[in-house]
Amino acid sequence: MRVGVLGGGQLGRMLALAGYPLGLTFRFLDPSPEACAGQVGELRVGSFQDPQALEGFAQGLDLVTYEFENVPVEAARFLAQRLPVYPPPKALEVAQDRLAEKTFMRGLGVPTPPFQPVDTLEELEEALEGVGLPALLKTRRGGYDGKGQALVRTPEEAREAFLALGGRGLLLEGFVPFDREVSLLGVRGREGEVAFYPLVENRHQGGILRLSLAPAPGLSPGLQAKAEGYLGRALEALGYVGVLAVEFFQVGEELLFNEMAPRVHNSGHWTIEGAETSQFENHLRALLGLPLGSTAPRGVSAMANLIGLKPDFARVLALPGAHLHWYGKAVRPGRKVGHITLRREGWEALEADLPRLLDLAEG
Ligand code: AMP
Repeated sequence: MRVGVLGGGQLGRMLALAGYPLGLTFRFLDPSPEACAGQVGELRVGSFQDPQALEGFAQGLDLVTYEFENVPVEAARFLAQRLPVYPPPKALEVAQDRLAEKTFMRGLGVPTPPFQPVDTLEELEEALEGVGLPALLKTRRGGYDGKGQALVRTPEEAREAFLALGGRGLLLEGFVPFDREVSLLGVRGREGEVAFYPLVENRHQGGILRLSLAPAPGLSPGLQAKAEGYLGRALEALGYVGVLAVEFFQVGEELLFNEMAPRVHNSGHWTIEGAETSQFENHLRALLGLPLGSTAPRGVSAMANLIGLKPDFARVLALPGAHLHWYGKAVRPGRKVGHITLRREGWEALEADLPRLLDLAEG
């Protein structure tokens, strides 16, 4: 079986590494000749907007998936006329637009922060009334890792941010004084069977994920069940196939939906060593119509991203239970270039080594 992947970043690379034991081969489409998945599979360099590039890419593939959520929906639809494309392009369309994803989840009865669309100054005034302050003004599309958004505390700040963010295609969202950020990854197979990983606690810095703790410390069965209920509705409504990641704000025992990603996710990297079946393998199993693998954790894990620096590999690997993943990318400030997962049998042991993990990840 030959799997085509739109996008050739580290998520694609890790999909391929998980797929080889299952006898799969991979072809990636990416606009950059440097795309790091090209080190572990065939890389076609081309634009997602170019029908000829898409046509050539599709030749000889059995199915197509994506590892990058800003693939144009038209590209996914174009390919879906020729061969199976999973997850469904509809999921891509919803997840690319912060207004659409929040409206979609609210329609399923999932709590969200208050939000209102903003395309004009009048709408901004209305939204300030409706949503209140403090709030976040966000671009509907193209934002990631905390880009394309501003925290606003006063109407003046809101007007400034409105102009700075382009004055249209925006969303005003109430600021949530959350206890912590958590994410849930679920996988749905072609026959509709589902499996969920445990909720994960995520800590960000400068809008970029730094650290994930899995399962989330102090996780209650009730919170896990609530999150699974919400994600299960989304998987069902989208007729989803593959891994879907959802990020929530946790306030007490409540969860507010923040955003979703229709793909494998950074907060699931710990599953490579820390779960019975990794998110990457389960995504592929779902696409292929194979039985899903157990999502049970193996002990407890902490995953730290390597951002803009190359650590001393020998120092990292001298820490027992540390697993290093280097993506083969050029190091640039603010760029995710690898991660380290530290696995332990219990929380106490993991907690004791967290400072060392963070120290290693910060070089
Ligand atoms: P996003 O790209 O929407 O996930 O936002 C990036 C980060 O900004 C989140 O991980 C939060 O830490 C913070 N953030 C976003 N929206 C809100 C909100 N409504 N209330 C509080 N913090 C937020």
